[in-house]
Amino acid sequence: MDYVIKAPVQVSVEVKGTNSRFPVRRIFCVGRNYAAHAREMGNDDREPPFFFTKPADAVVANNASVPYPPRTSNFHHEVELVVAIGSAGKNVAKGDASALIYGYAVGIDLTRRDLQNQAKDGGKPWDTSKGFDHSAPLAAIHSRKDIGLIENGEIWLKVNGKDRQRANLAEMTWKVPEIIAELSTLFELAPGDLIFTGTPAGVGPLVRGDVIEAGIDGLTTLNTKIE
Ligand code: MN
Repeated sequence: MDYVIKAPVQVSVEVKGTNSRFPVRRIFCVGRNYAAHAREMGNDDREPPFFFTKPADAVVANNASVPYPPRTSNFHHEVELVVAIGSAGKNVAKGDASALIYGYAVGIDLTRRDLQNQAKDGGKPWDTSKGFDHSAPLAAIHSRKDIGLIENGEIWLKVNGKDRQRANLAEMTWKVPEIIAELSTLFELAPGDLIFTGTPAGVGPLVRGDVIEAGIDGLTTLNTKIE
């Protein structure tokens, strides 16, 4: 029989104030980048952060809903500042790292916490706990050209109108230039790469019907619902 291979859909994200879209190439994520979140997960907050990934097609557009994922009964929200990379670089010095930034958005690193805990206990990979379908809701990207560099500001997430997470970006262990510099020693960064920069404390479970609102000062608020 003949197989028809369809080209993969190019995932892209709205760019605020333009008609153009940001094409997503890869999604990198930082783990344990806020000391208070490392502690709430039972980890030593002096250990350095680290990286994991999600597939590009895990992105969920702003205002779209997220289906409650299979094989979990402990599905968690993690609000994060997302950095969009606009130019290539490897072994980038911290002082040059900001030049790679195209812009910023509010994102949620959705997590099957029960699968993640099993993976940690068994020394197994995190793919099924982090890189599943619809695991990366993302609001519009604001270009650095329009809003400048983001170094601090409030980051928050509400479920059904109640505060779950609220912190300041200044509490990040690795600041954005340091994340870019570090990541660029492992991968050659390229336009279209997204970096989820880690979540502050207050992560918690979501159930079907939950309405989520997440924000960062100066960026478009992210809205989603669990179905
Ligand atoms: Mn995260």
